[in-house]
Amino acid sequence: MWNKLKTYSIKTFWCAMNFSDSEKISSVLDSYWLTEVLDDENADLVIFNTCSIKQKSEDKIFGLLHNFKKIKEKFPHRKYWITWCMVKKSWIRDKESVFYSNDPLLRRSEILDFVFRILDLPKLPWILWINKNSDKNLNEDKEKFFQIQQKLKSPHQAIIPIQTGCDNFCTYCVVPYTRGKEFSRSIAEITREINFYAKKWIKEVILVGQNVNSYWKWWWITKRKFDEENKKWLDWEEKTPFAKLLEEVNKIEWIERIRFQSSNPHDMTNDIIKAILNCEKVMPSLHFALQSWNDEILKKMRRRHTFDDFKKIVKKLRSKNKKFWISTDIIVWFCGETEGQFQNTLKAIREIQFDMIYISQYSVRKWTFAWDKMNDDISLEIKKKRWQETNEELKKSMKNRMSIFQWEKVKVLIDKIENWICEWKTEENYVCRFSEKNYKVWEIVEVEVIWSDTWALKWE
Ligand code: SF4
Repeated sequence: MWNKLKTYSIKTFWCAMNFSDSEKISSVLDSYWLTEVLDDENADLVIFNTCSIKQKSEDKIFGLLHNFKKIKEKFPHRKYWITWCMVKKSWIRDKESVFYSNDPLLRRSEILDFVFRILDLPKLPWILWINKNSDKNLNEDKEKFFQIQQKLKSPHQAIIPIQTGCDNFCTYCVVPYTRGKEFSRSIAEITREINFYAKKWIKEVILVGQNVNSYWKWWWITKRKFDEENKKWLDWEEKTPFAKLLEEVNKIEWIERIRFQSSNPHDMTNDIIKAILNCEKVMPSLHFALQSWNDEILKKMRRRHTFDDFKKIVKKLRSKNKKFWISTDIIVWFCGETEGQFQNTLKAIREIQFDMIYISQYSVRKWTFAWDKMNDDISLEIKKKRWQETNEELKKSMKNRMSIFQWEKVKVLIDKIENWICEWKTEENYVCRFSEKNYKVWEIVEVEVIWSDTWALKWE
C-alpha cells in the first residue's frame, strides 16, 4: 500500500488543532519519501483531516469525497483517507490487512480506503507497512503523537498543541467521548519545541487544545493543602499551570506574539487573567466560549459558568485595555430556549460588545447527553430567523468596536502582499488591509487606521 504512493495532499477543515495535526501528518509522510502537492486531483493520496463534532460537518465531508469518485474509477491505485476526532480505532478496507474492517464509515463511501485515529499517527508504518497490530495504552500514544515534530506550513506562525481531551461533558458535545480524558504536555517539552521554531524565524505561536486554561488542572488541584489545625483548605501556593506556561513562553527570545485557544470561562482564574495582561507578548485578544446568555440554558448545557462570570472576566480585561478583543462561540437555539431567552441574547451582545461571535445553530449530535435525554424542539425556520437577527446584532457590535481604532496606530504582522495590498491581523486580532509601502511579508509594522468596514480596518 505504501510503496505505490508517491504524492499526497491534505485537506484540512475547521479547528486550529486540526491544522497542527495536519502538519504532523505531513512530517510523517515526508519521512517516508512522499511528496506533498497542492493539487488534490492529481495526488496519489488525499487525506481529509476534519471535524465531526457536528453531524452537518460529517455529511459535508462525505459530499466532498463523492466528488473524487470519477477520479478513483479512472485511477484505482489512488487512495483516500479520513481522520477526525470521531475515529476511535483505525480501519482499512483492504481484506488482507489485520486492520481490515467493515466499519460503517468505510461502508458510507466506496472510495474511502482508510479511516485512521489521529493518535495512531506514530504507528502508521505498523498499520500500513508491517501490517501488525501493536496495542498500547492511550496515554503512551498521546505522548508519542505530541513528540512528532510539525512540518510548519506558515513561515512565521506555529500552532502548538499543549493539551487534548476534555473532562467537562457539556450535554451537547461529543468531544469527551471521542478525544477522551484531558492530557497535558509538560512545560519543558512545549518550551523546547517553541525554542526550536523560534530559531527558524517563527514570530507568532498559537497554543491550542480543547481546553487550554485547564492545562494540568487536575494535577494542580491535588496540590492544594488542608490546614488540619484551622480545619480549612489553604490557598494554592503555586500559580495555575497555564499562567506559568504563558510566563515561560513569554520569555522565549525571538517570539513576538503569543495567542491561545480554546478556553472556558470557569477555568479562567485570576492569575491566568493577570498573566494575559502582564506578559507583553501575550496578545490582547481572548476567545472563550460563552455558548448561551441565559443561566437556565447554561445549566441545561452543563456549562460551569454563568453569564455574570463571563461579564466579570471581560470587565477585568477591558478595564486595563479598552481595545481588548473578545470573541466567543454561541449555540443558537438549544433545546427549549424561549423567545424571551432569545431576546436576552441580543441584549447581552449589546452589553458586552463583542469583536466576533461564531454562531452555530444547535443540531443534535449522536452519543451526547442531549441526544439521549433532551428534545430538539425549536423549528429550523425559527433557528434561521434567530441566527440572522443575532448576526445583525453582531455586525453592529463589530462596527462600534472598530470605530475605537479610527485614527489610532496599530501594529500589524504582514502575512501576505497581493496586488500591492498588505493583509494581516493587528495585535488584537482584527484583519487589517493597507497599501504596500515597500513593506516585506512577515514584517511587523505600525499603521494608522483611517476607516473600517464590517470585517476589516483600513489604512487608506
Ligand atoms: S468544554 Fe464542553 S464544549 Fe468544550 S470540548 Fe469540553 S465538553 Fe465539549
